[in-house]
Order: sequence, then C-alpha cells, then structure tokens
Amino acid sequence: MDQVMSQLKEKDPEQREFHQAVEEVLESVKPVLDRNMEYRQLAVLQRITEPERVILFRVPWMDDQGQVHVNRGFRVEMNSALGPYKGGLRFHPSVNLGIMKFLAFEQVFKNSLTTLSMGGGKGGSDFDPKGKSDNEVMRFCQSFMAELSRHIGPNTDVPAGDIGVGAREIGFLFGMYKKLRNEFTGVLTGKSLSWGGSLIRPEATGYGNVYFAAEMLAEHGETFYGKVCLVSGSGNVAQFTTEKILELGGKVVTLSDSSGYIYDEAGIDADKLAFVKLLKNVRRGRISEYAEKYQEAVYVPSDSSLDHNPLWRHKADCAFPCATENEINGKDGLSLIEGGVRLVSEGANMPSTPEAVDVYLDNKLLYGPGKAANAGGVAVSGLEMSQNSMRLSWPREEVDNRLKDIMKAIHKTCLHAAEDYGVKGNYVAGANIAGFVKVVNAMLDQGLV
Ligand code: NDP
Repeated sequence: MDQVMSQLKEKDPEQREFHQAVEEVLESVKPVLDRNMEYRQLAVLQRITEPERVILFRVPWMDDQGQVHVNRGFRVEMNSALGPYKGGLRFHPSVNLGIMKFLAFEQVFKNSLTTLSMGGGKGGSDFDPKGKSDNEVMRFCQSFMAELSRHIGPNTDVPAGDIGVGAREIGFLFGMYKKLRNEFTGVLTGKSLSWGGSLIRPEATGYGNVYFAAEMLAEHGETFYGKVCLVSGSGNVAQFTTEKILELGGKVVTLSDSSGYIYDEAGIDADKLAFVKLLKNVRRGRISEYAEKYQEAVYVPSDSSLDHNPLWRHKADCAFPCATENEINGKDGLSLIEGGVRLVSEGANMPSTPEAVDVYLDNKLLYGPGKAANAGGVAVSGLEMSQNSMRLSWPREEVDNRLKDIMKAIHKTCLHAAEDYGVKGNYVAGANIAGFVKVVNAMLDQGLV
C-alpha cells in the first residue's frame, strides 16, 4: 500500500486531493487485502487508482461584449466495472485534474454502495458561472458539450450536476447534446421534470443525507426532534438538508457561501428557507442578504487569515458540511466537539480533512462519510435513468420511499462491513470496505481489461 501511494505521489505530485482520497480508502481496506493475498499479484490497488480514461479539452466561448475566453474541460472516466460511468459536472474556478480525479475516485465507491448498477466518473471545468449572464452560461455549456458529446451516452457515461451546475446548466447541456446527436435520451440526470427529470432528484442528496443521519441516530435510540444543527453551504445540498431536518423536528442555525456565513439562533424556519431558495436559485445573490432581511441573524464574512472556520464553533448537536472539500480541519473538528456536536453527516464530498476525521473517530462521534451519507443524489439519478429507459415517471412518494430504502440499505451495509472486518461502528471504514469489495470483485470477474 505504501508503494502504491508513493508511486501515485511521484507520478502526479500536485494532485493533493486525489492522494488524500486514495489514502483514506487504502487505510480502510488494509484488512481486505490481508484476507485476499492474491490481490497483490493482480495489482488491484494500482488498477483501481488509475482512471480508465481521462478526457481534457479546450472550451472556447464568447462573452456578451464579444470577448473570447478559453476554459479547460475535464471528464474522468474512473471505473466502469459496475455500470456506465456516472457522476456530476462541476463548474468552479478551483477545478483541476487532481480535484476531478478525487471526485471520480470517491464516486466509484459511492455508486457501488447505492445498490444500483453504476460505474464512477466526474467532470467539469474551471469556468465560473458566478456573475455571468444566462446567455454567457448557455454559450459556455454549448461549447463544453460540443466536445463532451463525443464521449458520453446513456449506456456509456451519464453526467449530472454538482457545484455550479444546476437545472439551468443541465438544460443547456442537454439541449446541445440533443441537437448534436439527434436523439432524446437519458444522457444527463438532474433534468427538469417536464422533459425527463425525476421527482425528488433536486431534493435527493440533502434528503438522503438526513435519512442517513436519522439511521445513525436511531441506532442509539435517538431522533432529530429538538436537535440543533449546523449546516454549511447554501446551494442544492444545503437547502434540502435543511428542509428535511426541519421536517423531522430539528433546528438549523447556520448556512454559508464562499463569502461568509449566517448564524440565526432563532432557527431557519420554512419561510426563511424559502427566502434562501429564492435568493440562491433565482436571484443568484449572496447569503449576507439573509442577515439584511432577518435582523435577528448575524453575518460573519470569511476570513482567510484564520486557521479555523468560526461557523463550526457554535453550540449544536449535529453538523452537516454541505459546501465543499476540506471545509472542516482538525481545529474545526475540535471546535465541534467542544460545542457539543455528537454527529457529523457529510452532504459535501470529502469536507473533512484527515485530521478532522481523526478527531471524530477519537471522540466516537457518529460520523457519516460523504460517500455514504450523500449517495442519495446519485441513487436518485440512477432511478432517473431507469425511468428514462422505461419512458415512465414514478410519483414523488414512490421515489422518496426508494430513496429512504436505499439510504437505510447503505447504512446497514456500512455497519455490517465494519463489523465483519473488526472495526464495529466505524462508518468510514465500513463504507470504504463495502464499496471496494463490490467493485474489485466485478473487476476480477471481468478479466484484465
Ligand atoms: P451548489 O453549487 O448548489 O452549492 C455549493 C455551495 O457551497 C454554495 O453555497 C457555495 O458558495 C459553497 N461553496 C462552493 N465552493 C466553496 C468554497 N471553496 N468555499 C466555501 N464555500 C463554497 O453545489 P451543491 O450543493 O450541489 O454541492 C455541494 C457539495 O455537495 C459539493 O461538495 C458536491 O460535490 C457535493 N455533492 C453534491 C451532489 C448533488 O446532487 N448536487 C451529490 C453529492 C455530493 P458560493 O455560492 O459562494 O460559491
């Protein structure tokens, strides 16, 4: 394992997030390798950490003033042992190959846990949709799809949304794919309801995150009722995590964006959440405007000179990081413990640094890692693919019940795998082991390809 890790670092020294994601999985699966000595000769670790294919392309587009810009597009097709590549597209200035590979790698194990037939991939661009007009976003999406369309398809690779890619972007991307290929197929998920989308897809990651957390609480005879919760982010995942916590009787006191966070001790109720949805999804405003509207709330701007994020210092019972990777460091982890937090459930991908994860495990927190806790989004994307293939759409209640059942199944799978390999109650090890074993077995069944 050390050898595999040092080879990865030597080959691509700048891909820090990818190394971090691989290191976490390799640590967890050590007992699996000990039980299966033949894996070494079969180079299972080398094979699973090398993408099947990486596509890197130029995306030229013109702004409203006639100025031409060039961004970089990516699609990492990581592993197709369990089905077509599946994973979101991210449009954010921080996007680079290392981030794409980390997200694609995580996606492989997450998709494996969902019980559905999906391989893992991820893509995106360093394009920033913030501050761009709808026409600029459309021209960018069309240019991006002009290249991506050669590589994807409903049985090959089915992208979805992620940071910076919501319903508007999926619409523009789908329209261009349809025009280029002259076919109306389920090549993207997260589509609008009236043209092939699934009910509950927008809600799925956030709702699934809370369903997973509810299962962790239930293991200890507890519920959400009366629990105070910290939520970060204010995008898709944060909004629907908040909505489901409220529905189950909890109270959410924080939300954030990359400029800062708000703390509302009275709680973000349904009316305030409706304002956040309007602010973020329609007006595309900043979370600071929440504190302008609701005077009882405090707005704290981000301060990059700090070695901690003050959002995680507020007293609470549960924390739901739903913004981005590495948003909770070791110091923030300790703040959570000091503030009384007993449960962390990750809506975002890899939001906790390895130091933070150590703090959670040392303090026996109920810790739901992203690849298990936020798998509800891709699970309902899988259900959207099924509905598209059958040219049917299931009612809201049916999709929600399937989502609940999948989250319960993932929770159980993690617990069983952890117990089977001698790390009872450790969800991070359980998720990594269960996800890994299923993918590796499929890879070995399919020969050396
Ligand atoms: P959105 O674009 O809808 O929202 C992202 C939120 O996070 C925004 O509030 C954004 O603030 C904030 N944010 C983004 N980057 C940073 C940063 N570097 N520092 C601080 N805040 C930041 O994305 P989603 O809600 O879809 O995704 C959030 C997380 O959930 C990501 O980690 C994503 O990979 C993960 N995820 C999403 C799924 C989905 O179905 N959408 C599925 C599974 C995981 P701002 O507006 O200022 O950029």
